[in-house]
Amino acid sequence: MNETVVKINNVSFRYDQKNVLQDVNAHIKRGSFTGLIGPNGGGKTTLIKLILGLMKPDEGTIELLGQPIHTFEQWNRIGYVSQKSNTFNKGYPATVFEVVSMGLTAKIGCFKFFTKKHREKVRETIRNVGLEQYMHENIGNLSGGQQQRVFIARALVSDPELLILDEPTVGVDVKSVQHFYELLHYLNQENHITLLLVTHDTGVMTKYATEVLCLNQTLHFHGNAEEYEALSEQDLSKIYGHPVNLVVHDH
Ligand code: ADP
Repeated sequence: MNETVVKINNVSFRYDQKNVLQDVNAHIKRGSFTGLIGPNGGGKTTLIKLILGLMKPDEGTIELLGQPIHTFEQWNRIGYVSQKSNTFNKGYPATVFEVVSMGLTAKIGCFKFFTKKHREKVRETIRNVGLEQYMHENIGNLSGGQQQRVFIARALVSDPELLILDEPTVGVDVKSVQHFYELLHYLNQENHITLLLVTHDTGVMTKYATEVLCLNQTLHFHGNAEEYEALSEQDLSKIYGHPVNLVVHDH
């Protein structure tokens, strides 16, 4: 159970002359629910882009599912839900079924090769995220929280082993955020999907995450949720570069 799905070794990255990541080392364990947190501009999205192979580190290496990233090709084993999913064009003329189907075309090439089995997989994934009754609804008619589930379903339909989510709760109402975390918890526990979640939501996150990474140019903390919770306000202020009020929440 100690297999590493993402290995980040001594990674540094700069945009032009600006150092954004400096000597970052981190391991994401198979089966974990890892929360990646840190202040705005701390380099979280940059690190995700490097993990997805969209940019190359200036120094250091990244391995995905045991392979160096520059030779990695099995992208259907990695699911990704970006920040941009939340600013979805409401007028987009596609049903929930159609949007989720798009997650399979990367695997099989084209809609025209869609078989009965593929259609059943799409329906099953939509049921899994609790949107069965909206299967043939236009996605523009759904609430922000429901749309977010559609994008998660699109990322899940190809059965990824690792699901990466970048700030998925921005612009989603509090009740949907709670449902969203419960869905992630379920996917992690029941479907054994490794999760890497970029979030600002440090209070709720520690209730569900098993591991926490705090990034602010360098990795300031890498440990389990209990160790993170044991950090003092002073420790967190150092990470964030300004005072942090810890939000107390029920467990
Ligand atoms: P976070 O996701 O933690 O908010 P980012 O990775 O988005 O942080 O950004 C880290 C730093 O890199 C910020 O200072 C940001 O302004 C800068 N940055 C991000 N994208 C670019 C870019 N395309 N070109 C130049 N600087 C960038």
